[in-house]
Parts: sequence; structure tokens; C-alpha cells
Amino acid sequence: MRIARFGERGDERPAIFDVEGNLRDISALVPDWSGDWLDPDRFKMLGLLDARLLPPVDMGVRFGAPVAGIGKIIGIGLNYADHAEEAGLDLPDEPVWFLKATSALSGPNDPILIPRGGDKVDWEAELAVIVGRTLSHADEDEALAAVAGYTVMNDVSERAFQLEQGGQWTRGKSCDTFAPLGPWLTVASAVHDPHDLDIWLSVNGERQQMSNTHQMVFGVGALLATLSRYMTLHPGDVVATGTPGGVGFGQSPKRFLREGDVVELGIAGLGEQRQTVIDYHDARTRCG
Ligand code: ZN
Repeated sequence: MRIARFGERGDERPAIFDVEGNLRDISALVPDWSGDWLDPDRFKMLGLLDARLLPPVDMGVRFGAPVAGIGKIIGIGLNYADHAEEAGLDLPDEPVWFLKATSALSGPNDPILIPRGGDKVDWEAELAVIVGRTLSHADEDEALAAVAGYTVMNDVSERAFQLEQGGQWTRGKSCDTFAPLGPWLTVASAVHDPHDLDIWLSVNGERQQMSNTHQMVFGVGALLATLSRYMTLHPGDVVATGTPGGVGFGQSPKRFLREGDVVELGIAGLGEQRQTVIDYHDARTRCG
């Protein structure tokens, strides 16, 4: 089962894909994909519904982030060995994480804005886990059972803000448009193994990242269980599980995004994103 949200920014409606892969408006039954509606048990019940009976949605519509009511975005650092190596950092014994502002959220195909004062905007293709049930001091099995589903996130980062201004990762991760999420959420029961998914990213058609989630140092259950010892995880919270090698600042020479660049990324079975890069001069953003 796959769910999505469509419509103009701030005015998205919940949708579901039917068995034939057509998008259907489910707003008559579901107020939005948030809170209790993300509980895996609810998805089991909704799975019994024949979504073909719901009104169709034109697939040319804008997709928003596939869930609403996102209370926090937690990014995991250095969770792929090849990425830690290109960053020149040792693999961590414990997961490394940072918070990313929810105001950075955008739709999967919305533009990326280069923020005012930023010229080192970089890409990070990541498997995003959406929490479906409240978790506190959970073990790994409980944590995995509480996953609503999986989607794609580009953990867009401004490296000077992140690394050259006191080393506060959140600063470089939180600009407007820095968290394209989607295009849809594949519910956990429909993902055979989240630790065996090809993940890739291209810039202007040139492949930059190509890996598989089996390269992750800490798996989904371990990440959620560990996080839940330090903060309560709520339905809708997003955990971006880290990026593989091939980011721009790991290359020689370093490569950053420029106006007009097109970033495409995806995860096998979970969908693809496409973002055009726009400079802040051409769009309003207050970050930086
Ligand atoms: Zn990241």
C-alpha cells in the first residue's frame, strides 16, 4: 500500500494508490496522513478498502510531503562507511544525529533554493523512515513494528553553514526547501527488507551516488530504538537514515549545486524525486 498527499503547498489532500497504481483522493475518509492515521494497524484496515471506489486524481498533480504533522526530522550522520571515508571521519560506535527544521520540508519535485549567503549547497540521497506509533525506550523489534513506512528524502545541506560556522550541523541542514520528502510513503508491511534497497542520485543526468541500504552501519530498528532512549518519537516524525558516498563536498574538486542544476534521486521500489536548483535572488527565502 502506498499513500501520498497532493495539491498546492499548504493545501495538500491525502491520497492512496489503488491496486492498479492509480492515485485516489481519500480525503472523504481520512482527514490527513498524520497522527493516529499513520498507525500500522490503521493501514492494515485501510488495506481492506478497494481504493478504486474513490475519486481519481490526475497523476500530473503536485505531490507534497507524503505525511503531515511532522513534529521533527532527525538526520543520521555517517551511517554509510563510504560516506564517512569521503568526509574524512571515523565510523561512529554510536549513531550520530542532528535535528533538521521542519520548515525545510518540501514536495519531492519542488525546487531547491540556494539560500542567501550560501554557495556550497550539496545533495544527500537518503532512506527516510516515518514513525507510525509513539516510541519511548523501545527495543529494536518494538521500534520496527512502529514504523509507518518508508520514503525518499534529499537531505540538502549547505556545507559552509554546516562545517565552517562553528560546526553546527543543524544550521547547514535547515534552510527552506532543504528537505524534499516523497513522492509517496510505502507502508512498512509492503517493504520486504528496508536494508536491501538500491539508492541513487544524479545531477544533470550524471550519476553521483549509487549504493544499497545494506551498506548502512546502523539499521532502522537500531536507530529508532537508540533515538527513543533520548527523545520520544511520535507519529509523523521522520528519521533520515544517512547518505552513501558521492556527495559533492567529498569529491575532488568539490562540487556544489548551481542555479539551473537538476537533481534526480530515488530508491528502488520507493519512488523518485526531481528538483531544479534556483538561486534566492529568483525566489524568496530568508535563510542565511
Ligand atoms: Zn544526511
